[in-house]
Amino acid sequence: MNNMKLLTPGPLTTTSTVKAEMLYDRCTWDEDYKGITQKIRSQLLELAGVSMHEYTAVLMQGSGTFVVESVLQTAMRDKDKALIITNGAYGERIVRIAQYMGLPFHEYQVGYDQYPCEADIKTILEEDPAITHMIMVHCETTTGIINPIDMVAKLSKEYGKVLIIDAMSSFGGVELDVSFLRIDYLISSANKCIQGVPGFGFVIAKLEELLGCSGNSRSLSLDLYDQWREMDRDGKWRYTSPTHVVAAFSKALDELIEEGGISARHSRYRKNNQILRKRLEKAGIRAYIAEEKQSPIITTFLFPYESFNFEDFYVYVKERGFVLYPGKLTNFNTFRIGNIGEIYEEDILVLCNIIEEYMGVLSK
Ligand SMILES: *Cc1c(COP(=O)(O)O)cnc(C)c1O
Repeated sequence: MNNMKLLTPGPLTTTSTVKAEMLYDRCTWDEDYKGITQKIRSQLLELAGVSMHEYTAVLMQGSGTFVVESVLQTAMRDKDKALIITNGAYGERIVRIAQYMGLPFHEYQVGYDQYPCEADIKTILEEDPAITHMIMVHCETTTGIINPIDMVAKLSKEYGKVLIIDAMSSFGGVELDVSFLRIDYLISSANKCIQGVPGFGFVIAKLEELLGCSGNSRSLSLDLYDQWREMDRDGKWRYTSPTHVVAAFSKALDELIEEGGISARHSRYRKNNQILRKRLEKAGIRAYIAEEKQSPIITTFLFPYESFNFEDFYVYVKERGFVLYPGKLTNFNTFRIGNIGEIYEEDILVLCNIIEEYMGVLSK
């Protein structure tokens, strides 16, 4: 896999400067190291556009799923009930977490290419006053659909519910007004749009909410409240922190800011995504999600013909330097191409040429 460009939604292609940060060993209780953690926490709040008086950033070991689980563990008491809005595998994973925890929940499921409907959500909330929390994935990485967060956030406040957003694959690549939307818990991880390497995730949590969560968690290692208490003191993680990953992430954050912040990164991703959709459509490969619902993060493409052999296509593209991603739909044959990571227009143009070549429609 040396020098391959990963067109996958995390782990993804990182810069050599981010990777170079991992050549040094660091010690978890050292002041310099703890300083890196604190720097990351304040940079995350800045990126989210929130004030440290209203919000706090907590880092948590593990992949993104661990962090989603830590938020459910910590934010929800046994008597609470979640409305989980799903239109893909990551929403369904949140349902599984609730099932494992034995938490009461109501799943409102819509088709993978559909938006949740405002009237339906209102009906559910009105008919079931036991619901205390609303949870939704922002960008469903399953398909690449970007969910209507404004509508859901507005309803959550109208009805006085705690709002938890899995913005794993979108934070850092899509602008999101966390404070205006009054998101209570926003979850993301190191190896998505911030373009770090895998090993931990983070939560941007509203202080007012988190403060009331002491003792809620039924899991010791996933207790986000305790992690926050310890980390907030001086930057020390409760248990061994992924030191190399943290150092790389710190560099990745600096590089995101150098690039021009989230809006600049969003433009790069979106431009690449538009080129990709257009060129592949011309080559006879259609996207699964309608253009107006398409995120710039990842695109799901339908097999262009019945006998299309993804393995053969995958190897053909891989031999030319790009790694694609299999599909995740059960009712359609699909594959996915990610746009996030250190990928530029020239890479996408080369990729499109390779795919057109494979499809036998060389552009003149
Ligand atoms: C990547 C991702 C996750 C977390 O997946 P992990 O494999 O645990 O890192 C959760 N939700 C969404 C929307 C994601 O894209």
